[in-house]
Amino acid sequence: MAESQTSTETDWVSRFADDVIAESERRAPGKPVVVASGLSPSGPIHLGNLREVMTPHLVADEIRRRGYTVRHLISWDDYDRYRKVPNGVPGVDASWAEHIGKPLTSVPAPAGSAYANWAEHFKAAMTAALDELGVEYDGISQTEQYTAGAYREQVLHAMRHRADIDAVLDRYRTKKDPAAAAASQKKKPQQQKKVDEAELEAAEGSGAADEDDGSGNSAGYFPYKPYCGNCEKDLTVVTSYDDDTTELNYTCSACGFAETVRLNEFNRGKLVWKVDWPMRWAYEGVIFEPSGVDHSSPGSSFVVGGQIVREVFDGVQPIGPMYAFVGISGMAKMSSSKGGVPTPADALKIMEAPLLRWLYARRKPNQSFKIAFDQEIQRLYDEWDSLGRKVADGTVLPADAAAYARAVRTAAGELPSTPRPLPYRTLASVADITAGAEDQTLRILSELDPENPLTSLDEARPRLDRAENWITTQVPAEARTIVRDEADKELLGSLDDQGRESLRLLLEGLDTHWSLDGLTTLVYGVPKVLAGLEPDAKPTPELKAAQRSFFALLYRLLVSRDTGPRLPTLLLAVGAERVRRLLGA
Ligand SMILES: [Zn+2]
Repeated sequence: MAESQTSTETDWVSRFADDVIAESERRAPGKPVVVASGLSPSGPIHLGNLREVMTPHLVADEIRRRGYTVRHLISWDDYDRYRKVPNGVPGVDASWAEHIGKPLTSVPAPAGSAYANWAEHFKAAMTAALDELGVEYDGISQTEQYTAGAYREQVLHAMRHRADIDAVLDRYRTKKDPAAAAASQKKKPQQQKKVDEAELEAAEGSGAADEDDGSGNSAGYFPYKPYCGNCEKDLTVVTSYDDDTTELNYTCSACGFAETVRLNEFNRGKLVWKVDWPMRWAYEGVIFEPSGVDHSSPGSSFVVGGQIVREVFDGVQPIGPMYAFVGISGMAKMSSSKGGVPTPADALKIMEAPLLRWLYARRKPNQSFKIAFDQEIQRLYDEWDSLGRKVADGTVLPADAAAYARAVRTAAGELPSTPRPLPYRTLASVADITAGAEDQTLRILSELDPENPLTSLDEARPRLDRAENWITTQVPAEARTIVRDEADKELLGSLDDQGRESLRLLLEGLDTHWSLDGLTTLVYGVPKVLAGLEPDAKPTPELKAAQRSFFALLYRLLVSRDTGPRLPTLLLAVGAERVRRLLGA
């Protein structure tokens, strides 16, 4: 078992854990290991951003399994400015634009929300998803930190060393080519907004090109920005600062307000992002914090931050792998038509938490992958179940075993699982055909394996609920299965002898083959018998063609289409009596 080993190098998580433990012992011997993530609740938090949390979570969890104390900080960047009104958020209209420039915690929540403000509203959905995923963390509200004056010394220090900071930033300003200039402006990809079917691109957005690093002020360079005392917006310009008295003057370009404050007692403002981030690395002693791939560019906030933390805050840059973006397949079209974005909560509606954890655990951070909302989810679940069987019978490879162990349990214990994990595609087919009717669902699921019948739907939950949600929310109406009410008399009447005989053989075998395995044997066997072959005969091309046309006939008669759910599942779902009626008995 992977978790009983230490320093095994079985997978990427173990390798990072080795490095992070070594670095933590070098820098802060005997102290808890600190890893960090940052999330901006500027709108629905995109599923793509989950990698920001899962990467350090998996590493933290491995370190905990080895017996160390770990703090996984999630910085809620809720003191960031409200940049734009996201599209398609229920309870939000264009009037929210009047709040642009205020801290996210000062913007009203969407209409009808139970939460006090914008940031809290969107944090809550993410918090619930993280709980379900088994992510243990310390959430830190940057609004609380700044407004409580937690960073007072750091803010005064940064202002005192503003020339040094300006010099670091200037190294990148001077060697500007247009591409580097654009990259250097980029903040953390805290929201992935642009959704297309194939891939989620790095956000055009957040933090983005208009991120103010404090330069371009004719009164000098200042790495700190107050929120206006009158309109609460950050459209303020520092006009003077005195290091000795800490007296700061600013004017607001939004409302014209001006005031004089003393930074040694003033708490309504923040460091600009490129200084804020490295300041917090030093303040918290962060050893590991990954970030999105756009940070590999020269002049990115991670690169600049590495110099600022060393030269200004006397700290050390965390180990910071760049992670590749995570794509979504299938949901994009549906969600973008509603203007929304897929969130971790959306994924957890259609898949169990261990499966979602596994997708992150099995891929190195620099590998991109897709999370399936389309038919692919059925194949993914098949692969997951097959891995579970290999783990159970001991044939699993070490790296696969490690990924599996990280998916199903954390250092704190097992995640909830489904007692009878029936194949997802079967559950989805049953949900498709029964439209969720519980008594019918129980009957069908019990008949899958009559020797060992399901006694209660709870045994198949929560996987059953996820499959039902997938069918009802992700499968388009035209792909749903509708079982006929009445027999297709016209089609039945047009059959030749061969066709009629195939149906007779099927109906004759129904009673003795009424299980998933039995019906599988029966539907493949009927064309063999018709061809004069033994039931266990090897398939020939002619036989395969005969099976295909037999299956097509059954689909036409049962669901008026040429294809559908796997036939044994479909027959069980339709029920013997109705099968007899539709096949003309
Ligand atoms: Zn103002």
